[in-house]
Amino acid sequence: MHITVDTLADFFFPCQCSHCDVWDQTWICPACTSQLTLVQPSETHDIRCFSGLRALTQYSGIVKDIMHRAKYEDQPWRLTRFASAVAGHLSGNEWLDAIDVVIPMPGDPWRTWKRGYNPARVIAREVSKISQRPLAHPRAFTRTGSKPQQSLTMEERSSRYESNVFTVNEHLLGRSSKRKCLLVDDIATTGATIKAASDALVASGLSVEVLVLSVGL
Ligand SMILES: [Zn+2]
Repeated sequence: MHITVDTLADFFFPCQCSHCDVWDQTWICPACTSQLTLVQPSETHDIRCFSGLRALTQYSGIVKDIMHRAKYEDQPWRLTRFASAVAGHLSGNEWLDAIDVVIPMPGDPWRTWKRGYNPARVIAREVSKISQRPLAHPRAFTRTGSKPQQSLTMEERSSRYESNVFTVNEHLLGRSSKRKCLLVDDIATTGATIKAASDALVASGLSVEVLVLSVGL
């Protein structure tokens, strides 16, 4: 094999930082990591509407920036790389052993169509890889329906407010139905959407753990 400076560089610095684009050995470089507040996924947190939530980072400058560029500047690969880097902290978490399936928070259908992907699924895919737990079928858990237009306030109408109507398609969850799932989302602030989604899964007989990429603690 002919070894060039480039192949050597690729060998030593195979990754590009998901935030500042510098070539490095991981998907988030040490300089950017030092500006992150990592959260131990072994611990649980209580936020306004949901208790017992697990998270990987606190919602801060760098995380906000990566999310914004992924969601609004059509750069989903930033989220993939970042999720891959921080999901590494899941290794060795014993509570993962009881998880049968990883389920992404379903996206708002309109926003998912417009964006071309669901950020929660991008993160869930990385969590699934690292935890070696299967990722649920894309239609196993969906967000359907919205409040009738006439019941919405003007503000809700203009922001395409969704009332969080969730549907579990049990036949697509297969063997994992009635077992333990890990619901994965990008951000938790109040936890209202997470509570609604978790309630729907519990109503279908699943027990639920929740993991978010970032939490506004
Ligand atoms: Zn960086």
